[in-house]
Amino acid sequence: MNWQIIGHQKITTYLENVLLNGRLAHAFLFYGQKQLGKREMAGQFAKALLCYEKKHTENKVNNNIPCEQCESCLEFDKKTHPDFYCITKASTDKNIGVSQIRELKNSLTNRSFFNSYKVAIVDGAHELSTSAANSLLKTLEEPLGKTVIILIAEKLDSLPTTIISRTQKIKFLPVAKKDIYNFLVTKNLDRDLALHVANLASGRPGRAFGFINNPEAWNKYLSSVNYFFKIFASKKHEKIALVNNLLSEKKLVDQVEIVLPLLDFWQMLFRDILLLKLQQSDKIINSKASHELERLADYFDLEKILKINNYIETAKNHLARNVNVKLVLENFLLA
Ligand SMILES: [Zn+2]
Repeated sequence: MNWQIIGHQKITTYLENVLLNGRLAHAFLFYGQKQLGKREMAGQFAKALLCYEKKHTENKVNNNIPCEQCESCLEFDKKTHPDFYCITKASTDKNIGVSQIRELKNSLTNRSFFNSYKVAIVDGAHELSTSAANSLLKTLEEPLGKTVIILIAEKLDSLPTTIISRTQKIKFLPVAKKDIYNFLVTKNLDRDLALHVANLASGRPGRAFGFINNPEAWNKYLSSVNYFFKIFASKKHEKIALVNNLLSEKKLVDQVEIVLPLLDFWQMLFRDILLLKLQQSDKIINSKASHELERLADYFDLEKILKINNYIETAKNHLARNVNVKLVLENFLLA
């Protein structure tokens, strides 16, 4: 088969079998955390379902689907396939509204243009409004001819059980680091950099794509690493100045928005320093910064690193309660 998906081999095999034996559920639910590749998998599955070659595949003449050549595959790539629909929340809306689901139902009632399936993806099913979910439920209860609906959500408990029970559930788990690394190397990424990005991705291919397709995200990451080294290698009064700079003239909510991810990030870097101390450099995430991390590792003994980790946890708890951000950060850095 011809699926361009990173990892998720078991799911790909399962869906390929579903296509081959033709025993299709009317609705699927792809669920799991963000950036694992649920949307990509749903797209490939939809494309394969709609591909003309699928007809031959059912006779096992050619099992390279989607074929990437037929009119259906070409229309799909151009995002103009008349039998494919994708519903998602508009950035300006609070949720996926009932009018979007009604419109989708109308479209699914029409005959297929290519005399085949009609496929719809509801991306972000956890964002359906209550009335939109009720409207969708009716469609799932009385499926319309040759239609397949793929719902995508992060968590099962964010969806009504009535909807969940009418779908074929497929759970997505984090992808192995080596799968992400191998993919990045095939894209001609330098091996060191590929390893570093695969580490940072933490099992989420979408995160790796974010770094390689968006130089801004990568530069932001690099400057966060530099900031970390700067702050932890500086003297006490310099730390205070850096904190002042970071937080000055910002509202409390914005300060929390800045500092919480920063503390998570620092925790990750201290985890790396701890691993270096324990001679487990093969397990560190920020591999390309390993020299600088080693230098910092000389400053801290094991006890201090564990203490810092506790301080960070405490600071995060305090921040969640909206206390004085500057004070929390200063207490932590001067401790
Ligand atoms: Zn095709």
